Amino acid sequence: MRLKSYLSFQPTWTKVVDALFALNVPNSERKVDPAVRVNIFLQSWQTYQNKNQIPRLKTLTDTAKKYGLRIEGIAFSRVILRNMPIWYHREADPLIRSMNSTKASVCLRTKHKIRTVGETVDLTTKIQDEAHTQSSVCECTGCNEIRAKWKCEHPHGCANQAKKLLDTLPPKWDPRSELPEDYQGEYKTSREENRNNIKPFDKRITTAGSISDIFRIFTDPDTKTTNQLPNLKEPAEILEDVVAATDGSCENNGEEN
Ligand SMILES: [Zn+2]
Ligand SMILES: [Zn+2]
Ligand SMILES: [Zn+2]
Repeated sequence: MRLKSYLSFQPTWTKVVDALFALNVPNSERKVDPAVRVNIFLQSWQTYQNKNQIPRLKTLTDTAKKYGLRIEGIAFSRVILRNMPIWYHREADPLIRSMNSTKASVCLRTKHKIRTVGETVDLTTKIQDEAHTQSSVCECTGCNEIRAKWKCEHPHGCANQAKKLLDTLPPKWDPRSELPEDYQGEYKTSREENRNNIKPFDKRITTAGSISDIFRIFTDPDTKTTNQLPNLKEPAEILEDVVAATDGSCENNGEEN
């Protein structure tokens, strides 16, 4: 199987290959629940990359290494961020690797069947209601829904663990962040530009599409990637933010005087 078709995440074959990768893991990785080993290029668990690996699979990892395959991009769309696997998320703080075996995490995987970042976010939003109390016997709408839908007896604990998992994601990988796509909008040309047939530089930097679009080959190993989100707001927008912020403090100053 070719690396390119493998990374296009097409159903059947990719799934078979992923399952085989997940089975052929070194001893150090045996404690990782096989159900959460989704893909070696998206997560931080290790598979055999030596002679212990099935030769055809070793060819895949060798090819990836040879061509410098890695995840690269200035910013990714929220759709992509939500589709990433949450367990062993490759770009998360390594702390996430030790968060798999708590009672809540086991419940998140077995009862809630949570696999992606998006599913994790959706669970946390259920306990954001004002009526929610920080207790497993909370009877708010969200907690009751969690109990009914997933037969979970500790909705607060599970939703809280979901939040902790998300908190290990750097801003660039956290769908709860304000992303460049939120303020950069669509690519527009003015009437003037249209008339003169001018195409202004497209400043939008979000990689959209599917997870297969986040990989780049021939990357430079000496250039480190960053997980910080760039601030690409137009100067006018930044000014608005500053004005909004100083407005508030001016009022307070006024009261003090
Ligand atoms: Zn449970
Ligand atoms: Zn509640
Ligand atoms: Zn639960």
